[in-house]
Amino acid sequence: MYDIMIIGAGPAGISASLYTQRANLKTGIIYSDESALEKTKKIDNYYGFENGISGKELYENGIKQAENLGVIIKKEEVTKIEIIEKGFLITTQKDSYKTKVVILATGNKKNKPKIKGIEKFEGRGVSYCAVCDGFFYRNRSIGVIGSGNYAITETNELINIANDITILTNGEQAPEFRADNVTIDTKEIEEIHGDKKVEEIEFKDHTKLKVDGIFVAQGVAGSTEFAKKLGAFTKQDKIVVNEKMETNIKGLYACGDCTGGLLQVCKAVYEGATAGIQAIQYVRGH
Ligand SMILES: Cc1cc2nc3c(=O)[nH]c(=O)nc-3n(C[C@H](O)[C@H](O)[C@H](O)COP(=O)(O)OP(=O)(O)OC[C@H]3O[C@@H](n4cnc5c(N)ncnc54)[C@H](O)[C@@H]3O)c2cc1C
Repeated sequence: MYDIMIIGAGPAGISASLYTQRANLKTGIIYSDESALEKTKKIDNYYGFENGISGKELYENGIKQAENLGVIIKKEEVTKIEIIEKGFLITTQKDSYKTKVVILATGNKKNKPKIKGIEKFEGRGVSYCAVCDGFFYRNRSIGVIGSGNYAITETNELINIANDITILTNGEQAPEFRADNVTIDTKEIEEIHGDKKVEEIEFKDHTKLKVDGIFVAQGVAGSTEFAKKLGAFTKQDKIVVNEKMETNIKGLYACGDCTGGLLQVCKAVYEGATAGIQAIQYVRGH
């Protein structure tokens, strides 16, 4: 059992770990590839670098710094987080981990595909959470947009609820996945149609597929998806936290770009440090 598991190895996640590890708590970080920092050519406005520093170098330095301190670092994709007795269970594409505290630091990821009609039908057939909304589609036909590990996790969540599921890769390569009531369609999607709710998907080749609902699970799951599934409050796709970086779920903290506001390294570092310090007190008090 970990004391603290941090999802994300950007400035927010790494900063949190520097405090929790030095407090002698068993700390782990899980991260996949995508970080805003890696995409940043040069950071000129962060304290202490007289000639600036490349985002990639700063990101890699942070991971090495945490590793040198003894933080257990796993390069895996988190697909699911669940509440269990005395903590949380984190599932990745490779393994699962029990922890007393989770700190979400997965950045400002936008999972929304650019498909006509997707926003129009949000809450009216378009959902971003299988565990929250799957029940509404009992014995119905549904589509899952996505092609990676997260899409498979969402499909598995729906497999015993829906009548049939079509995994819609929207032009991406088909995943290795087989199940009796699941088919895979790799065609690119043009538009989602319907009157009051989702009725049909139109592909770029103008063929159509009738569906009662669509679950969006593109790319890797982000903080908002995890937060919503755990029952944490979100506002405009950002996680709602107080000044201690606590969410409304005990033991669940969030920091960095995923909480909104200033999307800058300095703010991510500050919030990560705050989440780390608060999480130490939480673990020691339990
Ligand atoms: C093009 C660009 C230029 C920028 N320029 C500047 C600048 O000049 N100055 C500045 O201060 N800021 C700049 N920023 C913003 C800055 O990069 C971010 O504010 C900062 O990186 C946020 O840190 P974070 O730790 O919250 O998230 P990120 O750095 O985005 O890290 C997110 C972490 O979460 C992990 N992750 C996400 N999903 C999962 C999952 N499902 N499973 C496992 N791990 C996951 C990723 O692997 C990554 O490690 C720029 C951003 C961009 C995109």
